[in-house]
Amino acid sequence: MVTLEGKIRVPQAQREATAEALVEHVALTRAEAGCLFFEVVPDPADPECFSVREAFLSPDAFAAHQSRVANSAWGALTKDYQRQYEVSGLDDPVSEDETWMTKALALADLASAVGEVPVGALVVLDGQMIGQGFNQPITGCDPTAHAEIVALRQAAQMQSNYRLPGAVLYVTIEPCLMCVGALVHARVARVVFGAREPKAGALISHPKVDNHSTNHRFEIVEGVLSDVCGQRMSQFFSKRR
Ligand SMILES: [Zn+2]
Repeated sequence: MVTLEGKIRVPQAQREATAEALVEHVALTRAEAGCLFFEVVPDPADPECFSVREAFLSPDAFAAHQSRVANSAWGALTKDYQRQYEVSGLDDPVSEDETWMTKALALADLASAVGEVPVGALVVLDGQMIGQGFNQPITGCDPTAHAEIVALRQAAQMQSNYRLPGAVLYVTIEPCLMCVGALVHARVARVVFGAREPKAGALISHPKVDNHSTNHRFEIVEGVLSDVCGQRMSQFFSKRR
């Protein structure tokens, strides 16, 4: 993952034009393939600056972003502004788990767009996505419509099988007790999640899988793009406050 953090100094005379151009710049950047996180906000400590935080899946995605920006209205407007940026992760290889988690993050964004807690999940079998879902209990009037359940249902329909042996479930946030139960019933082989859920997480935070009345065990991998997955949650809840 490539991250960028820093400041951009906005000349007084350009303040208004910059704020206007920024809206489009943020929307276009967040829609770019491989953009995991993008935020440009006024710096409370320095009124002449905006603070910038970016995360991209890969160096290629980061480079594609930079070349798009260079040729954009935002790039033209801000090309002479002073910037102090620190970039890291340019040499980090991208794992298959990170690539799938990026897709799960895009699903989480669909949840927050309709006012649901931003959790996204997908099911992968033999390198193919066979199910996807985002959290939707409120809009669906369905207490079971967590991202994992929605994705498992779609995968099981796709396979015409209530068991999903060999399948991998990716989810942005640690699954709850209900979802852990469903994952055991589905006989998935592996569960990969991003950030822990300290209150309701039932895999690591409050492990329940050993108490389940079956012999099925799945491999658990945590921490894939965890910062970005966690930021989605904290952003969502800070907006609601
Ligand atoms: Zn759940």
